[in-house]
Amino acid sequence: MEKNRELLLKGLPIAPGLVIGKSLVWKHKKIQPDGRIVPENERDRELANFHRTREVMLRDLKKVKRNLPSRITRFIDFQVAILGDREFIKDVEYLIKEKGRTAEYAVFQAIEDRMDELLKSGIEYYRDRAKELETLYFDFVSYLRDEDKREVIGEDVVLFADDVTIEESIRIVNSNVKAVVLQEGGKTSHAAIILRDYKIPAVFGVGDFTDKVKNGDTVIINGWKGEVIINPRKTTLERFQKLVERYREEARGLFEIKELPTATTDGRGITLMANIDLPEEIDLVLEEGAHGIGLFRTELLFYEYGDDEREQEEIYRSICEKVYPFPCIIRAFDLGGDKVIKGYREKNPFLGLRGIRLLLEEEDRFRKQIRAILRANTKGNVKFMIPMVTTLWEVKRARAIFREEADSLSKKENIHLPDFGIMVEVPSVALTIDNIAPYIDFVSIGTNDLTQYTLAVDRRNSRVSYLFQHTHPAILRLIKKVVDSGRDHSFRVGVCGEISSDPVGIILLVGLGVGELSLTPSLVLQTKKLIRKVSMEEVENLANNALSMADGDEVNAMVMEFLKKKVPGIVEKYGHF
Ligand code: PEP
Ligand code: MG
Repeated sequence: MEKNRELLLKGLPIAPGLVIGKSLVWKHKKIQPDGRIVPENERDRELANFHRTREVMLRDLKKVKRNLPSRITRFIDFQVAILGDREFIKDVEYLIKEKGRTAEYAVFQAIEDRMDELLKSGIEYYRDRAKELETLYFDFVSYLRDEDKREVIGEDVVLFADDVTIEESIRIVNSNVKAVVLQEGGKTSHAAIILRDYKIPAVFGVGDFTDKVKNGDTVIINGWKGEVIINPRKTTLERFQKLVERYREEARGLFEIKELPTATTDGRGITLMANIDLPEEIDLVLEEGAHGIGLFRTELLFYEYGDDEREQEEIYRSICEKVYPFPCIIRAFDLGGDKVIKGYREKNPFLGLRGIRLLLEEEDRFRKQIRAILRANTKGNVKFMIPMVTTLWEVKRARAIFREEADSLSKKENIHLPDFGIMVEVPSVALTIDNIAPYIDFVSIGTNDLTQYTLAVDRRNSRVSYLFQHTHPAILRLIKKVVDSGRDHSFRVGVCGEISSDPVGIILLVGLGVGELSLTPSLVLQTKKLIRKVSMEEVENLANNALSMADGDEVNAMVMEFLKKKVPGIVEKYGHF
């Protein structure tokens, strides 16, 4: 390792914030299980070891659980459930008694079998669960071998680890760790959710850092952009020190504007809502002062709970009641595409059986979800939205099913009929929106897919990511078409793609006349601040110019120039997403 050379690691932005600190590197947990074959006369001892360790772990997990908010205890429950699972115990006992495996090998094997099952699905959510099973195994071996726990030593440290167990995540948030960097880990992992919940900036998935960082190195973590700088040069460090200071002041300023309206300097009001994937995110939504949920993605719930009607109803109701009196737009399962579902493997999934296409093919599941949403609408603030629409026929058919379920339920119970809306994510829908208008109450433009389908660029493929420009004039023209149609036909138009979390995009959307933005919860106040600094006249001019430009780079350069003058610092913080 070259001494003190500045190094940049890129990973996934997991929890926002900017931190400068000293690194604490935890030793790797990957432990090879003891693969000896145990002689028969020693197998009872291995069995006893297994049961003793399991019981001690269960006791400790239950102890940890006592002091945690309920939204986090369910992660502990996941571990408790595995350790107490009869099948799991039976498998381990069999491997020890009949196959002569050591306790740690038997647990490793039983967990690996369950991991394989999860990994086979190819779904990010299950991959994250599989990782958590692996960390449960690491914990088991540490307990069995009576190893010391990995501890947080020192003040204000930035922790680097291969992965962390749930128990460790909880110790981290209760310590003085300033930020966390993980070699692995996904956005939906429990560690990610816990760190976000406790507002500890985090970057995951930076890859192997063994030779890149050592204890006590100066490090900078940008949890907004998913970047880690190790051993920054003097000039870099000074630049970030200034930024940290500025954000600290800004944070104070942000708090002060929380109760003020989101409006341009010349009085155009904009509604800022939040996108959520998990029920746990609701607290941040409320804290940031979002005026509702503009996109509640339900796919992760499907992965976790399946399509159980009652379970769905309970979750939807609790979220929508919390966000009341503001609206809560629940999107029907957008399965297929990148959100793979077991049993549907397609050669070209983004153009295959996805979103509303799948829902209409599997009507039972669709109807169950509709009923759950209808029943959850106790306060009348729920809105229902369908994903991945391509044709008018789909809208009519989905609406008919929605109405049928509402009619049939209303004969038995008192229900409020939610507004019915569609996602605009496919160019054909943007272009024919005037024909669809009579059948909808609102639309939400999903620029992630709209960009993918308009520019023919896979949203997950890093080799063509330079082409993925949600501020490309072609996208802006489609957005304008929808906004104009909304004005002519009186339906509401919101935007919920990542463009709403991009300062350049925000300026252009407001300039195009979009009145509702739904974005990452942690950026709501920041966005309000930005909108409060600009006038309608300025942003309309920028949007008009952008519409006639030839490519996204030109558009971005123009708006960046404006932003640099208007809100210095914002571009460095968020970069251009
Ligand atoms: C979109 O496509 O812009 C969108 C918000 O939906 P998702 O990212 O869930 O596909
Ligand atoms: Mg989409």
